[in-house]
Amino acid sequence: MTRKVIIIGTGPAGLTAALYCARADLSPLIFEGNQPGGQLTITTDVENYPGFPDGILGPELMDNFRKQAQRFGSEHLNLNIDKVDFSERPFKVWAGEKEFKTNSIIISTGASAKLLGLESEKKLMGYGVSACATCDAFFFKDKKVYVVGGGDSAMEEAMFLTKFASSVTIIHRRDTLRASKIMQEKAMANKKIDVMWNSSVVDMIGDPNDGGLKSIIVENHITKEKKDYGCDGLFLGIGHNPNSELFVNNLELDDKGYIITSAKSTQTSIEGVFAAGDIMDPTYRQAITAAGSGCMAALDVEKFLEN
Ligand code: NAP
Repeated sequence: MTRKVIIIGTGPAGLTAALYCARADLSPLIFEGNQPGGQLTITTDVENYPGFPDGILGPELMDNFRKQAQRFGSEHLNLNIDKVDFSERPFKVWAGEKEFKTNSIIISTGASAKLLGLESEKKLMGYGVSACATCDAFFFKDKKVYVVGGGDSAMEEAMFLTKFASSVTIIHRRDTLRASKIMQEKAMANKKIDVMWNSSVVDMIGDPNDGGLKSIIVENHITKEKKDYGCDGLFLGIGHNPNSELFVNNLELDDKGYIITSAKSTQTSIEGVFAAGDIMDPTYRQAITAAGSGCMAALDVEKFLEN
């Protein structure tokens, strides 16, 4: 059976696309991937999604998105697409050995946390090193922790960590933060948070089989001095990479790996293949903008299939 539309990824973009496609009678099939619900499922309070004056928990918001799409007949499979072929029609995608055919595709695979790329980081990930404060902060009650980064993610991670940790030091490679003014102000007003400026983590010390992370080596870019700081936890808040490996040989990507779409549309370099959300948006990357582009992708699909 050839589907009218397949959607890959279930963050705000994919689930909004599913809702609109379902309501347009396109019987969408949506693949949930490795992280059903996307990045919002690993956050706590979402206070900037319009329509929720008191805020809403990220997982609850995504659950609502899913239920709303399913109410109109969107079909959800808890599978991960690991191969695609857009070279002929119908398009084909595979989850393991299972093949699915479709006349159109919406890609909404989102983005994943960036890492520093150190060998020691690989070894200690999950053993004192984390890229998700909301997932792991609880383990650092009354402990001393560090957060790398100077953007909104780092501020958010740092503030969340103060609910548990005794102190939180932000390590930033420059002398000014990239974060929005409101987030900077909130973080800097928090007595548990301080900042180590012009500095980078160059190594992490510890043994995963013996208590995990013990200390970090931090280099100051001005003095070139490297110092060992004892610590219990290190959180990476340095941004995200688009989840586009699957499409490297199929679609045009920009130099950072984001899927390129044509202006004022979600159309990719292949007609009938559309992209929405963080996978094609290196600029705004908000739940509301992702949802908006998911809606656009569904409308683009509808028009494409009509033609
Ligand atoms: P970002 O704005 O790209 O910031 C990444 C930060 O990490 C920058 O300060 C960057 O340093 C630093 N960094 C990057 N690579 C590094 C490396 N290898 N070593 C050390 N530091 C490194 O990413 P983001 O904070 O994830 O935010 C992305 C978007 O999501 C933004 O539009 C943001 O507003 C939004 N966001 C919003 C909220 C909210 O409103 N609640 C929360 C999270 C994210 P430089 O400054 O030197 O480049």
